[in-house]
Amino acid sequence: MRRRLRPVAGVVAAFGKALVDFFLPERCVVCGCVLSRNERFICCYCESDMPLTRYWLQEKQPMAERYNACIQQQLGAYEAPGRAAALFFYREEAGFKWIPQGLKYEGRRALGRYFGERLGRELAGSPLFADVDLIIPVPLHPWRRFRRGYNQAEVLAQAVENAYRKAFAEDSSRVPPVVCSRLVRRVRATRTQTRLSGEEKRKNVAGAFSIDPRTLARLPFKPRHILLLDDVFTTGSTLSAVHAALRTIFPPEVAISVATLAYVPGD
Ligand SMILES: [Zn+2]
Repeated sequence: MRRRLRPVAGVVAAFGKALVDFFLPERCVVCGCVLSRNERFICCYCESDMPLTRYWLQEKQPMAERYNACIQQQLGAYEAPGRAAALFFYREEAGFKWIPQGLKYEGRRALGRYFGERLGRELAGSPLFADVDLIIPVPLHPWRRFRRGYNQAEVLAQAVENAYRKAFAEDSSRVPPVVCSRLVRRVRATRTQTRLSGEEKRKNVAGAFSIDPRTLARLPFKPRHILLLDDVFTTGSTLSAVHAALRTIFPPEVAISVATLAYVPGD
């Protein structure tokens, strides 16, 4: 009986999907046009127009310079420059801003996973990031995480890890990185950063992060190249504050790089 019902259930599901597509068609996150059957989240025109940074292929570029300047300011001591990359440029006037905003404010986790994997594929294929062994998403304060129901940086970190795993699947000599979400904790709730100046942002997040000693004790290996993950890179103050917390437990030989979905270019 059950077997006979299976094809019927398939037809009902397909019909239901066609009905949903007709009344609520999926739209391009950037321009809002209705997507065709073989498109997901973004139309082919916006996809080809995406303002990719290609920073994953360049060691010296504005994002890395800003990140490293923040680190020096935070630590007050010199250390070897860290690497930095974002998938695309974030401009207030362009529709690509709806990608991180949809993930952060509209609960669109599948959207985040899609573009997170895209970022991960670029990183896994880059000689600058191919040896990453530990991925740490920038933590949210537990109360904010509870209210949002998820941490957008964690969604991205998992997607990036997946992309590495797929990219290295054919080559047994390459070990993909693992995500560790609990090593760094946000111990102080910080004001939202959107309207703060650069200096205010730095003060706002300084000392907001700490290390969880129990997770540290349980780390199965000593990392050599850590990748911090966040949704948007603006001044670099949040990422460099997480970097400072990690430097209290890892020596300078352990590289700490950053990757984000979007990068806000300076003036
Ligand atoms: Zn579009």
